[in-house]
Amino acid sequence: MRIFIDLWWFFKQERLKYSLGVLFLMLSSFLSLIPPHVVGVLVDDIRTKSLTPVLLGKWILFLVIIGVIYYFTGFLWRQLIFGSSIILANQLRNDLYKHFTKLSPNFFQKRRIGDLMAHATNDVNAVQGAAGEGILTLVDSMTMGTMVIMTMSALISWKLTIITLLPMPIMVMLTMYYGALLHKRFGRAQAAFSDLNDKVQENVSGVRVIKAFGEEKAQIKMFQNASRDVVNKNIAVAKIDSLFDPTITFIVAICYFLALIFGAKYVVEGSMTIGGLTSFTLYLGQLVWPMLAFGFLFNIVERGSASYDRIRKLLAIKPEITDKKGASAKIPSGAVEYAIPRFHYPESAAEVLSDIQIKVEQGQTLGIVGKTGAGKTTLLRLLLREFDLQEGKLCIGGTSISDVTLEALRSAIGYVPQDHILFSATIAENIAFAKPEATREEIERVAKLASIHEDILHFKEGYETIVGERGVTLSGGQKQRISIARALLAHPEILIFDDSLSAVDARTEVSILQALKRERSNKTTLISAHRLSAVEHADLIIVLEEGKIIEQGTHEDLIEQHGWYAEMYAHQQLESLVSEGGQKA
Ligand code: ADP
Repeated sequence: MRIFIDLWWFFKQERLKYSLGVLFLMLSSFLSLIPPHVVGVLVDDIRTKSLTPVLLGKWILFLVIIGVIYYFTGFLWRQLIFGSSIILANQLRNDLYKHFTKLSPNFFQKRRIGDLMAHATNDVNAVQGAAGEGILTLVDSMTMGTMVIMTMSALISWKLTIITLLPMPIMVMLTMYYGALLHKRFGRAQAAFSDLNDKVQENVSGVRVIKAFGEEKAQIKMFQNASRDVVNKNIAVAKIDSLFDPTITFIVAICYFLALIFGAKYVVEGSMTIGGLTSFTLYLGQLVWPMLAFGFLFNIVERGSASYDRIRKLLAIKPEITDKKGASAKIPSGAVEYAIPRFHYPESAAEVLSDIQIKVEQGQTLGIVGKTGAGKTTLLRLLLREFDLQEGKLCIGGTSISDVTLEALRSAIGYVPQDHILFSATIAENIAFAKPEATREEIERVAKLASIHEDILHFKEGYETIVGERGVTLSGGQKQRISIARALLAHPEILIFDDSLSAVDARTEVSILQALKRERSNKTTLISAHRLSAVEHADLIIVLEEGKIIEQGTHEDLIEQHGWYAEMYAHQQLESLVSEGGQKA
C-alpha cells in the first residue's frame, strides 16, 4: 500500500476531486444496499397478501428514484477518480519528457530507446491504474464490504452472516496468492513484450539492411521465437487469470449453500421471514465484488508501485552537464580557443585528445581533417559542451564555455551533425526548426545557400512536402543539405559542420562553400571533413591523428610540408580525376 503514500502529493494536489470522488463512490455503494431490502419487504408483503397496487407503485417509484441518483453518482465518481488518474499520467509523462530533454547525449547513448519509451507508456499506465482503479478497489473493498456485512447483520441476522461468511477468508487468501503469482508472471510477460518491441523497432528501421543481406528468413525466425516467448508467458498469465473466476464462483456457491441451508432452518423455526432470506441472498451477491476488488487491489497496487519506483529512479538521474552557479546568460561570441592537454570520455580511460592548442579568430574558418577515429567529432562535441573537460579550457571570446548557460552557449552555435535528423513535418518546418518564426523568404534564402532550393521545388508540394518517418524519402545528400539550411537559418556566431558535406557531390560542395564564405564573412565556422576539398579554403587546417595535432597551417602550408595532408590531397585529386573521367566516358 506504499504507493498510496508515495502518491500522496498528487492526492493532495487533487484533494477536492478525490474527496468528492470517494464521497460519491461511497454514496453509490450505500444506494446499492437499498434495492435488496425493498425486494425483501415486497416478498414478505406478497406472502402476507398485504401488497396493494398503490403500494407496489410507490415502491417501484422509490426504486426508480434510487436508480436515477445511482446513475448520476456512478457517473460522477468515475469522472472524478478516473479523470484525476489521467491527470496524474499526463503529469508524470510530461515530467519524464522534460527530464529526458535535460539529460546529456551520453545518457541516450547508454539507454535503450525501447526502455525509455516503456517508462513513458507502460509504467505511467501502471501508476495511473494505482491512482484510479487502485483507489476504486481500495474504497470499494473497504466501505462497500463493510456496509454490506453491517447491513446483513443489522437488518437481517448476524448469526447467518457469520455462518455464511466463514469461507470468505479462504477466498481472500486464494485471490491474494493468485495476485502474487500473477504479478510475477505478468512481469515476465511484460519483459518479453519489451524484447519483442525492441526487435520490431530494430527490424523495421533496419529493414533495408536485412533485405540487402537476404536475412529475411533468419529475422522472421528470430521474430517468431520472440513472439512465441510472449505468447507462452501470456498463457502462463492467463492460466492464473482463469483460476480467479472458478475459485470465486465456487466459494460464493458454498456461501449461498450455507445461507440457504441455515436460512431455511431459521425461516422454518420462525426467527427469519422469507423476505429476509431473499434480501440476505441478494446482499450476498453484492459481497462478491468487494471481495474480488480486494484481490485486484493487491495486484494493481503492486504493479503501480513497481512502476512508480522505475519512474522515480529515472527522474532521479542527474543531468551530467548543467549550468554552473552564476553562469552568464549572454550569448558568447569571439575567438574560439582550445587549450586541452588531455581528454577522455567519462566511461573509458582511453585518451581521445591530447595537447590540443588551437585558436580560431572570429570570422575565420577552421578545417579539421584526419582518419576515422582521430577525434574530429570529439573536438566539435566538446565545443557544444556535450561533455565536460577534465583538464584545460575551451573559450569563446575569452570566456570559458562552462561559464555561460547551456542555453546561451547553444544559441551561439549552429550544428550540422553527421547523422541528420529530420522530423515528421514539412520541409519548411524542418528548416525553421530552430527559428519557427522565420518567414518563407528567409527559409528559401537559406535553402538556396544550401543548394537544396531547386530540389525542393521538384517535390509535388514544394516546401510543404512532409518528410521524416512518414514522409517522402530523401537522399542522404538532400537530408544533409536540409540540415545545413536549418543551421544557416539561425545565423549562428559559430557554425559547426561535422563531416556534413560528405554526401553531396563535388560541384554542390563548391557552391555551398562559396555561399558560406559570402554569408559568414564575420562569423566563425568549424568544418570537419574526409574530403579535403571541403577545408581547402579554411584559414587554418589541423590534421588529427590519434587525438593529436600532427600538422597545421593553411592549405598551401600543408602542401609544402609534404606530410599526411599533402599525400592525401594528391591521392584525392587523382581519385576525383579518375571519377570525372569515368563520368565523361
Ligand atoms: P572521428 O570523428 O575523427 O572519426 P571521434 O571523435 O568520433 O573520431 O572518435 C575519437 C575516439 O573516441 C574513437 O576512438 C572513438 O571510439 C572514441 N569515442 C567516441 N565517442 C565516444 C564515447 N561516447 N565514449 C567513449 N569513447 C568514444
